[in-house]
Amino acid sequence: MRITFKGGVHPTEMKELSLEKAFEFLPIPNQIYLPLSQHAGKPARLIKKKGDTVKKGEMIAEPDGFISAPVHSPITGIINRVSSITTLNRTRTNAVIINRNDNDEEDFMVPLNTESVTRQEIIERVKLAGIVGQGGAAFPTYVKLSPPSDKKIDYVIINACECEPYLTRDFRLLLEKTVELIAGLKLILKATGVSTGIIGIEDNKPEAIKKLSSHLKEEKNIFLKVLKTKYPQGAEKMLIKAVTGREVPPGKLPFDVGCIIQNVGTAILVYYSVAKGEPQINAFLTVSGLGINNPKNLVVPIGTPLKNIIDYCGGLKETARKIIAGGPMMGYAQFDLNSPVSKATSGILVLTEKEASRTKESNCLNCGKCLSVCPLNLAPTRLYKLTRFSKFEEAIDMGIQSCMECGTCAYNCPAGIPLVQWIRFGKLKSLALLKQRTN
Ligand code: SF4
Ligand code: SF4
Repeated sequence: MRITFKGGVHPTEMKELSLEKAFEFLPIPNQIYLPLSQHAGKPARLIKKKGDTVKKGEMIAEPDGFISAPVHSPITGIINRVSSITTLNRTRTNAVIINRNDNDEEDFMVPLNTESVTRQEIIERVKLAGIVGQGGAAFPTYVKLSPPSDKKIDYVIINACECEPYLTRDFRLLLEKTVELIAGLKLILKATGVSTGIIGIEDNKPEAIKKLSSHLKEEKNIFLKVLKTKYPQGAEKMLIKAVTGREVPPGKLPFDVGCIIQNVGTAILVYYSVAKGEPQINAFLTVSGLGINNPKNLVVPIGTPLKNIIDYCGGLKETARKIIAGGPMMGYAQFDLNSPVSKATSGILVLTEKEASRTKESNCLNCGKCLSVCPLNLAPTRLYKLTRFSKFEEAIDMGIQSCMECGTCAYNCPAGIPLVQWIRFGKLKSLALLKQRTN
């Protein structure tokens, strides 16, 4: 029997829309909007100015502090201006607007030998390349490659679950970039000094499982772990439990139970940065949903506006009603087609009325269905009510900050209550109180 976690749901997968679509390169746009904040932590600090010419791969903004990441130009062109834009996460940030010119000169770093490269060189390269986690949180990867010295790490786990419906980006990467993924994992193992790598994959990807199994035959310290298909199997805590049997206690991190998790795309980017000297300038993403004419998997220069991607995929169907950045469970609804793709964008979904429809909201039925599916054993209905009545102290005591916003509870709520939006709001409001408590 496969180890799994308590709770969770089985949303309709809808992956068939783009499963067979191999990656295509989006034509380079004439103008891009490059956000200075595409990662968890402080925005990058601009080191270029209006009128400067920049080459593809050239650093235009440097990290500002320990938790930060540089930004590189994905095209060769001239800096037009800096302007405030709305990101796909619906926050406001400054973005550098670059007009493309006809010169496609590159300015990558010097490639390093993947066999002789040292641990410190890998970490430094990943930092300079501006690589951020591809699993959604966009945490600077070099920080995760440098665990505190008092933590003993036993496993690097590659998250190949891709448990969100519709998304097939990781599946395509597993098929099309198998060699690069394994080489990237080896570099991560070297950088962290860990001897065992595990690739955790859901059992709904037989083609990728077959390909990985054949490539891993000769590997002595990298293993494949096939997991039950269930949402949110790809959440860090759920993945660690399923792969190692270890539980990450509330408020603790994977480091604390001897694990480092990296996404499929992140490992491939690590390989590219070391072997080719390439910084993170492209996003691999799925464009899908019944509201788009031609679903695809694309390699897109970061900073490309949504409208370029939608046009390339044949445009919106008449029935299109809602655009989401990311997956349908954790993604963000969009209202501005000028918003640009950023480093961690995993998908653009265009949903029809039927796909996007929710149960009309009514009062809580006290049915307990949200409690039974929460993988973290939280009480979503209680957290929602406490937030609604501004009882943030109590919400903290009930563990509101532990919520990973997976959306499982809201998906299962027969009263159509937007539980995650309420809990997200409650987390934000209770954060200041929490800081006061810890001071
Ligand atoms: S969104 Fe939060 S409360 Fe709801 S199921 Fe996920 S972890 Fe539990
Ligand atoms: S699932 Fe919805 S209706 Fe049922 S207890 Fe939870 S919040 Fe209330």
